[in-house]
Amino acid sequence: MDIGFIGLGRMGFALARSLLKHQQRVTVFDINTGAAQQLAAEGAVIAPDVASLCRSVDIVFTMLPGPKQVKQVALGENGILRNLRAGAIYIDMSTIDVDTVDLLNDAFTQAGFVFGDAPVGRLAMHADRSESLFMLGIDARHLPTVEPVLYRMGTTIHHCGHAGSGTRTKIINNMMVLCYCQINSEALVLARSLGLDTAKTFDVLVNTTASNGQLKEKWPKKVLAGDLSPGFDLALGYKDISLASSAGASTQVALPVCDTAKNVFRMALAAGKAGQDTSCLTDYWAEVNGVEKIRL
Ligand code: NAD
Repeated sequence: MDIGFIGLGRMGFALARSLLKHQQRVTVFDINTGAAQQLAAEGAVIAPDVASLCRSVDIVFTMLPGPKQVKQVALGENGILRNLRAGAIYIDMSTIDVDTVDLLNDAFTQAGFVFGDAPVGRLAMHADRSESLFMLGIDARHLPTVEPVLYRMGTTIHHCGHAGSGTRTKIINNMMVLCYCQINSEALVLARSLGLDTAKTFDVLVNTTASNGQLKEKWPKKVLAGDLSPGFDLALGYKDISLASSAGASTQVALPVCDTAKNVFRMALAAGKAGQDTSCLTDYWAEVNGVEKIRL
């Protein structure tokens, strides 16, 4: 089985590298040639463009920033659809919107290809350790082909249903994850304003039902350690929470915390926080409230 991997950013690089670590043949492409060259040193073949990559592999994965890039790479003139080998499978792992994933499914299915979506759960640090979780949407007949490949990049696969259901699940998942970014920040800033000791408060919050994975696993390694380098860029977080907000609008479901958090992400971006990890919201919230930076 020859695998093609397009999009070698924070997540795609780690996932493609996991395939290589499992002796999988991988051909890679990214407009940032540096990432591809790094993987070539570990055994990957570099494709000069998307079209050449598609002509030499059995499964193509994309891990791109958002809907715009996925549409361009998948459906564009020199994209995946026009160059995929007969019988090949295309799986998008990016976090995108429902309309785009349905558009891809229709286009690839009508052209006789198998399409699936497998957005990734857990954090970038899990992808580094080949411990990702996948929300897989694909016709169940293709699970025996696809699952063994995904297990080389992660430990957990949830088959959510038909193509497109992975993306739907991911949008709901991320709505919760990203609302917790705001809830964590409000709570920590309030605790500081009330004169509480951050370490003691943290210890209580991670051991009660107030606990959440972001606070427990990510906050102490990122913002509370003063590390704002993006595991998950605030700009991508804004894109994802906007996807959930739009999904609420189109289905006429009220999402007040989600919409409020989306606006706070927007405000933090406007304050210059793009390029920082989503946990930087705690810094932003502290700044807005005139509270000193909160560190463990
Ligand atoms: P990233 O910005 O680090 O990487 C995106 C990569 O895509 C970059 O290397 C960029 O050069 C490449 N790219 C952009 N346009 C391209 C094109 N036309 N052709 C080829 N390559 C192109 O983003 P990331 O953090 O790796 O996230 C990727 C996706 O995964 C996003 O949809 C994000 O929402 C999702 N995601 C991220 C995390 C996380 O913790 N970072 C976790 C789960 C899911």
